[in-house]
Amino acid sequence: MKLSQNGWVVIAGLGPGNEALVTQEVRDAIDEATDIVGYIPYVKRIVPREGLTLHATDNRVEVDRATHALEMAAEGKRVVVVSSGDPGVFAMASAVFEALENNAESRPEWLDLEIKVLPGITAMLAAAAAIGAPLGHDFAAINLSDNLKPWSLIEKRLQLVGEAGLAMAFYNPRSKSRPHQFARALEILREACGAETLITFARDVTKPGQELLTVPLKDATPEMADMRTVVIVGNRDTRRVGNYVYTPRYAAEA
Ligand code: SAH
Repeated sequence: MKLSQNGWVVIAGLGPGNEALVTQEVRDAIDEATDIVGYIPYVKRIVPREGLTLHATDNRVEVDRATHALEMAAEGKRVVVVSSGDPGVFAMASAVFEALENNAESRPEWLDLEIKVLPGITAMLAAAAAIGAPLGHDFAAINLSDNLKPWSLIEKRLQLVGEAGLAMAFYNPRSKSRPHQFARALEILREACGAETLITFARDVTKPGQELLTVPLKDATPEMADMRTVVIVGNRDTRRVGNYVYTPRYAAEA
């Protein structure tokens, strides 16, 4: 990847946690950066060096953080905005484009900035690989947080996706601030997908202390998930073979 010496913004995915899963182009961008912007735990993964300023901010200030990155790039800085996993999956890439759009009238020159999104390995794919191939057929990825959308919409999507027979991956499955919602999600899934459908809880995937647990939906409890867990629900054909969980590539007619 060729980046200029003028200001730019790179929105980079750091992968699920294991440093071996950070791509070479992301490493190169970090090496060329003057500034790193991101949520505190992700910025902690960057090795400090002279000439590199780390701007770690709290959660839930994504658009402010993105605006700051664009401001710095407009001043000629080389800015890497870091996300975990892939930056386009429930993460900072959309926030940067939102900030760009919000400022399109007041700062039209930002539209000409060099902005690049560098992909990373998203949690659901790392988790799927760790257990076998549960996403080997059609699937949907759903963020279970109701920060940016109403819970009623999440319930509707779970219902319809379950009825459509897709496997699912859930991000942000359960937080302390909304303890009852995941229990409700499990209820909907048992109804829409069938109680024997396999569900996997994958915690701290690729990190020390990784935990993987697969049970039928009927035995799943809300406590099996937290914010460090990505949850994968199979389709009705998803099954175990030996120590693995996989979904066949074929499906019968609807
Ligand atoms: N952009 C990230 C997702 C950010 S949302 C990505 O592509 O992976 C944060 C959620 O991602 C967490 O609540 C959790 O559901 C999931 N997650 C991220 N890293 C994880 C890991 N190493 N193990 C399990 N889940 C993870």
